[in-house]
Amino acid sequence: MKSAEMESEVKRKYTSEIGEEDSGKQVLLYGWIHEVRDLGGVVFALLRDREGLIQITCPKKRSPELIKKIRKVRRESVVRIVGEVKAEPKAPGGFEILPNEFEVISEADAPLPLDVAEKVPAELDTRLDARFLDLRKPRVQAIFRIRHQMIQSVRSFLSEEGFIEVHTPKIVSTATEGGTELFPISYFEREAFLNQSPQLYKQVLMATGLEKVFEIGPIFRAEEHNTVRHLNEAISIDIEQSFTDHEGVMRVLERLVNRVYADIVKNCERYLDWIGVELEVPKLPFQRITYDEAVEMVKKKGEEITWGDDFSTPALKALSEEVNEHYFIVDWPTEIKPFYAMPYENEPEISKTFDLMAGSLELASGAQRVHIYDLLVRKLREKGLNPDSFEFYISAFRYGMPPHAGWGLGADRLLMSILNLKNIREAVIFPRDRTRLTP
Ligand code: ATP
Ligand code: MG
Repeated sequence: MKSAEMESEVKRKYTSEIGEEDSGKQVLLYGWIHEVRDLGGVVFALLRDREGLIQITCPKKRSPELIKKIRKVRRESVVRIVGEVKAEPKAPGGFEILPNEFEVISEADAPLPLDVAEKVPAELDTRLDARFLDLRKPRVQAIFRIRHQMIQSVRSFLSEEGFIEVHTPKIVSTATEGGTELFPISYFEREAFLNQSPQLYKQVLMATGLEKVFEIGPIFRAEEHNTVRHLNEAISIDIEQSFTDHEGVMRVLERLVNRVYADIVKNCERYLDWIGVELEVPKLPFQRITYDEAVEMVKKKGEEITWGDDFSTPALKALSEEVNEHYFIVDWPTEIKPFYAMPYENEPEISKTFDLMAGSLELASGAQRVHIYDLLVRKLREKGLNPDSFEFYISAFRYGMPPHAGWGLGADRLLMSILNLKNIREAVIFPRDRTRLTP
């Protein structure tokens, strides 16, 4: 039988789709050679595709020609196999394929820069250098299958809640908050910057009457130091909502996180299994502690902190031992939050702000925003920023700006915390950090 004829008669299947109903039938599989074991009289190969692994079993008596081909195929070559499905309790997944055709479509070089079968452990840097191979590992691929679900859940949830998805520019003329974390770029005869956050644009959109917007997009931060939770290019999930306050958007945020967990538990059982993670959907509502309470808790644990300071990493570790897994720190000192955060009217040194935490990891920051023109200009000046360079932004506050609130949630950090990954780079296909610009 010619292969073209076979193709039309034989159904293509993924490894995971093979079941009892295929027993004794012919199937067509495409994939990569994960492993070959030669026992002389019989050769076993493991075929891997995006859904899993299946054993190819070729006894010598089946076809001396086929066994020769399978024996000499290099690991990680791309192959096409047509064969008969047989139940085999000892094979992974309970089925094996007895091949009739075995074609090497694209042969892999040897030796491999990275062992996909993970017999030899590799450092994260080596893995990231050979990321296309690293991603062939089911455990690694599972991370990105779950990331896909996470983003899909976010999009569905926010759409169902009436938020409209927008895209704001990433090449900008001013910093969001001033500061040093900016990447300058050359923009024809001018200097421009990569956007640190969609903050200013999503606020301007509140003046359009769209009322509820969200964006899932890149943010760029020239973080000088390599840490396990910072990247220079990250994906941020941002919302902005009119006619509400910080508490209103905190409720959206906690329900969103709850929904993401629930969807992953419901739809990603296999992938959680590949990674070896068991998930519990966090209960609502999340605990809320004030900044003042958090400072007291940290002090009680023997960590040093002065009112008005941001929490250090050891302080956050100490705090996370005292509270639930997910919690909000609310009502921060106005001084350490950005100029666009709304102070309490009766207590202007405190602001209507919050951070969402997962243990000691910051997942999101948000606030009710300043929507009053005069106050906004004053606050800009107080932070040493020049209102003139924010003209496009502040002019939107002069002609009817509703009160509004919003937050920015790090997508990479959210995934990192859901899957308990030790390094944010694990949650990103091609991460960018202080030293990594390729692949
Ligand atoms: P951190 O204090 O952890 O550096 P931040 O307070 O500077 O974060 P925000 O400006 O509040 O960050 O940004 C909102 C969210 O975006 C953060 O809570 C985080 O989840 C994510 N985020 C910010 N900067 C980075 C980064 N460099 N790498 C990855 N995620 C980031
Ligand atoms: Mg923050």
